[in-house]
Amino acid sequence: MKNQMKKPANFILLIISLLLFQIHGMGQSAECATDYIHNNLMQTDSDYRKQINLLESQVEANVQSHKNRITRSKIYNIPVVVHVIHLGELIATGTNISDLQIQQAIAGLNTRFRNVNGLGVDIELEFCLASKDPNGNSTNGINRVNGSSVLNYSANGIKPTGNTCNGAVETAIKDLSRWPVSDYYNIWVVSEICNGGFVGYASYPVGGLYDGLVIVSTSMTSNSGTLPHEVGHGFFLYHTFNGDGGNVSCPIDTNCLINGDRLCDTPPHKQGDCGTTNPCTSAGVWDNSRYNYMAYCPIVNRFTKGQKDRIAATAIAGPRASLLTSIGCGALGINEISSHKIFSIFPNPAQSAINLKADITLLGSAYVVYDNTGKIILKGTITSEITNIELGNLSGGIYLFSVGENLKQTYRVIKE
Ligand SMILES: [Zn+2]
Repeated sequence: MKNQMKKPANFILLIISLLLFQIHGMGQSAECATDYIHNNLMQTDSDYRKQINLLESQVEANVQSHKNRITRSKIYNIPVVVHVIHLGELIATGTNISDLQIQQAIAGLNTRFRNVNGLGVDIELEFCLASKDPNGNSTNGINRVNGSSVLNYSANGIKPTGNTCNGAVETAIKDLSRWPVSDYYNIWVVSEICNGGFVGYASYPVGGLYDGLVIVSTSMTSNSGTLPHEVGHGFFLYHTFNGDGGNVSCPIDTNCLINGDRLCDTPPHKQGDCGTTNPCTSAGVWDNSRYNYMAYCPIVNRFTKGQKDRIAATAIAGPRASLLTSIGCGALGINEISSHKIFSIFPNPAQSAINLKADITLLGSAYVVYDNTGKIILKGTITSEITNIELGNLSGGIYLFSVGENLKQTYRVIKE
């Protein structure tokens, strides 16, 4: 009797687990539109084609020469602005997702780029919601605009340029709210893309007024596989199955630096192949492709060393380079977070209190806690090696802790 009770329960748990994993990955049915847009532009826009080819040769040269990589003594922070193009709902309702959901989505993006699960490679790149707007004023990095007045938006969402679906014209939606692409990575959160046809897409790094990433509101979450996938495209990563002709044939892999996804540590495969063996090749580490954020497989959990090098080579070669020196997050001095932290904070995420563990050289120094708009919430002096700070009265979200000489050492903490 006991066993009979147990089996259905286990089965239900298995189904729930599978459903959760399905949410994590891109999923088989809900696709990314990046390739559709890119392929269309490569065929119809000669300037775009020239820019991509130029960037590709620069990136390839950077990767091959092993020169000019991002110096790994520091973590680069990319300032992000999120534009929520909602349908007129109240904040935290429907497509007008809450600040907290957005902050948690960015935190989730960072845990994936920093390889917190330990299954892949640390990209050593982080994303921060802008704390300064283009005019130098404080901001939480989130803009909300009602997009329902744009033709077709309420019924079908946005239509990526070059697509023939019935959505609203992409530039009309992006013109509702956009910040300079030289200083901010723009993310537009939308109700739908082509009436549910896609979950996201991103521009390859060729610059321009409308550069950035588009994602549906339901995928802008802390456990989203779509957000790291699209940001990967934004930093010039291709799908691991690039060149499969739409799940038709194994990608050519004569030279892994210029075929397929142009990476040598992600074995070529077909989009739909995610099983225990790779029908295209037995060479290489198959898990690097089938569990990759740039695959369409149901479980995704890693970037590779090759992808890290390509992202680094792209960040210094293309129009994204200016983001590395942007002061969009710089009002609080967190543009470059030192990798030589002389204090640590635990637990993080935190609930009611945190402990600040400081190097003995910091005794007598001030600490300051800011909220995500830059407002000072708490301050005090470090008097012992471990300082307990109560957070009970603070609402959930991201806080910044600064300590040390001139408060230069800054750390992000999530209050749940
Ligand atoms: Zn994609």
